[in-house]
Amino acid sequence: MKPIEGIELLRQLPTCLLFKPIGASKFDVSIALARQFGQARVSEDFANGLRFFDPITKDELLGSYHPFAIAEETIHLCQCVRIQSRERGIQFFLESSIITFDNVSLVVINARAVQNSLFIAPEEASPVGKHITFNGLLSTFSSQLINATSDKTDNLIEGILGAFGEFCDLDRCYLFEFFNNEKFACNSHEWVAAGVTPYKDDLQALPMNTMPYFESKLKQDGLFKVNNVANLPQEAKGEKEEFERENICSILCASIVLDNGIFGFIGCDITGSPYTWKNHDVKYLQRIAQMLANTLQNAHNERALYKAQQELIEANAKLAKLANIDGLTGIANRRLFDDTLQRDIERSVLSKTPLSLLFIDVDHFKNYNDCYGHVAGDDALISVAEIIKKTCIGNDDAVARYGGEEFAVIMPSTNLSAALKVAERIRRNIEQAAIPFKLSAYNNRLTASLGVATMAFDHPVCPNEFIKQADAALYLAKSLGRNRVDVWEAQEVVLR
Ligand code: GH3
Ligand code: MG
Ligand code: MG
Repeated sequence: MKPIEGIELLRQLPTCLLFKPIGASKFDVSIALARQFGQARVSEDFANGLRFFDPITKDELLGSYHPFAIAEETIHLCQCVRIQSRERGIQFFLESSIITFDNVSLVVINARAVQNSLFIAPEEASPVGKHITFNGLLSTFSSQLINATSDKTDNLIEGILGAFGEFCDLDRCYLFEFFNNEKFACNSHEWVAAGVTPYKDDLQALPMNTMPYFESKLKQDGLFKVNNVANLPQEAKGEKEEFERENICSILCASIVLDNGIFGFIGCDITGSPYTWKNHDVKYLQRIAQMLANTLQNAHNERALYKAQQELIEANAKLAKLANIDGLTGIANRRLFDDTLQRDIERSVLSKTPLSLLFIDVDHFKNYNDCYGHVAGDDALISVAEIIKKTCIGNDDAVARYGGEEFAVIMPSTNLSAALKVAERIRRNIEQAAIPFKLSAYNNRLTASLGVATMAFDHPVCPNEFIKQADAALYLAKSLGRNRVDVWEAQEVVLR
């Protein structure tokens, strides 16, 4: 047999073949292979347009990785490859051998179009076997999803789309989530076969009002199935334009419905040339949609729970703050003062540092109210609180309204002489604020009296005792004429 006759024979054989003389740069294919790609006959253009991809890494197989390079190098090629024509891609299992006709050696590659040879052993390639394999695949993924923490879910969803795409020999699989009251859809996850253009980045905010036909079908039937995009009716003009832009010939989408309404949809495309969707394709897609709905529902519940928890934490923090703040002056109230004093006494002992306490009482404030009214009295108290706060510049100083027209300052790490200085500054600043008070005993201004007590870390006292000491010093200041600072010192109150 002449080589030329041999080549013609290979071309006519009813099996998918790719072949070339060893060393030749171009290869030829059998008519049976061209038919798999929807070609009625073999053209040189068709054979040369074929590209080869690793179905797992999606890398194009070029140079020494090209199937023909391997077939020539190793004599026997045995590999799963995705072959991509200008129209569409199909996954094949390739095996090669070298055939010699009349001293001419040809590399012949036999291509077996096993749908997803990654998942199906040859004996399982029957429809029943395929169905069993799919169910196995689904139960594996569903148990992974059940056990997955929410940070792993995204990767798993992508894995599921990929496995499904490979299994059904699809070109693209994706998940869209609706947002903004279902006015937009966002492509959250996508898998594409080797050599197929991804569109995820392009489809982050797809306006649904451009696809009314798609939307109504999806919502009515839970399914959108188109075997041939070219045959879409006139009312689907927007959809047709979008699908053609993405080179989609056949499309199948199933809605994902959660308790609170439609969440989005999962879908898959065939690009290049149309494909008639089989019943089992639809069933498979719907079962995946159902499985994802369960997962997404859990994630949704988890998020809603987290949000409610955060709101509760914030509300509690606000309440706690309100419960500790004096409503009139905005400084700490008696409650927070009591807690702080207890804590600071303990800290003082532990850190071996002194602790001082100031009590401040506005002088003749009853008269002030009588003279100017309660509203003006309130304003005066706000001003006094502000002056005390600004005067106490120690980082840990705690200024509180102890009650009525009485204020207190807790000053950690402050000895008596330092506390006295602060107290005197407060007295002076209140006086110098010159809040008019015509009944004042002192220069027609509002004034205050202060009592100071200091606790040595090696002689700790309980909070009540400490308060009594500061109060006694304040009483002394009142009794000695007001607008002055006095000190409590060991058992007896001593005039400064
Ligand atoms: P002293 O110099 O001895 O402290 O005389 P005083 O009049 O300030 O003392 P007294 O305890 O007799 O009166 C305190 C007054 O403070 C009585 C009350 O009307 C007034 N007061 C207490 N809390 C408030 C408040 O929140 N707003 C106003 N406007 N007045 C208050
Ligand atoms: Mg008082
Ligand atoms: Mg008073």
